[in-house]
Amino acid sequence: MSLRGRVAIVTGSTSGIGLGIAEALAAEGAAVMVNGFGNADEIEALRADLAARHGVEVRYSGADMSRPAEIAAMVGAAHDQLGGLHVLVNNAGIQFVAPIEEFPVERWDAIIAINLSAAFHATRAAIPYMKKAGWGRIINIASAHGLVGSPFKAAYVAAKHGILGLTKVAALELANAGITANAVCPGWVATPLVEKQIVARAQKEARTETEVRHDLLAEKQPMLAFSTPAQIGGLCVFLCSEAACTITGVPLSIDGGWTAT
Ligand code: NAD
Repeated sequence: MSLRGRVAIVTGSTSGIGLGIAEALAAEGAAVMVNGFGNADEIEALRADLAARHGVEVRYSGADMSRPAEIAAMVGAAHDQLGGLHVLVNNAGIQFVAPIEEFPVERWDAIIAINLSAAFHATRAAIPYMKKAGWGRIINIASAHGLVGSPFKAAYVAAKHGILGLTKVAALELANAGITANAVCPGWVATPLVEKQIVARAQKEARTETEVRHDLLAEKQPMLAFSTPAQIGGLCVFLCSEAACTITGVPLSIDGGWTAT
């Protein structure tokens, strides 16, 4: 229980990677503010289940990560309701795939807002609380697409490259405040975000989802296996450990070799 007494916010944690991270932090004893969209009853069941299984306090914020005022209110609520703020995981993200000349302007704006600007707004609001505590961990869930591009993902790749820049600046500004800032760069992780891409591509190419799943990996990830949300959670727990206290300002790849070539 290495995180007993710590308070964490994980944005976009009602599903996929964020849920895996919230689970991993709670399992180490952290109180957690979960966030994201979904069915209200299912979210309450998820919240209560996390709290009961790990014996920690878990609260929920429905803040929309495209709205700066709601993001700031969520950060304040986590501090006030859970008694501090030590770990911020900027994870919420969306995807849209189209060639640049056909990319809908409102999809570009939404991806930049949720995948990039939200991390700025949350970090901006969280830093004073982390400074007050004299200890903090800012973890930005970027992507292999923070390091390399792929066609048809202009907004996503731009946002993920941008969040690496934000991570470096935060690391430099906070280097002597007991606060680290790092980016986690997953390759393919089996989550609803990726499942949607698999279903869409299978329909477009008249192929089975199993074939598309294999092709996705074979095109990018030399290790022909998806990472799991639990594995991303494990990396976040490591970044919160004392062993990681001088790791700051870096992208940590967890991508089955995607960016090794
Ligand atoms: P997901 O679709 O399973 O989960 C996304 C979460 O974000 C959900 O909880 C959703 O409710 C929440 N969310 C979406 N829009 C929101 C908004 N406006 N306000 C608040 N919450 C919102 O996706 P995932 O695959 O778990 O992705 C999580 C993060 O990991 C994203 O930043 C994504 O870019 C990144 N990532 C995913 C993969 C992958 O292969 N799945 C790879 C690299 C990086």
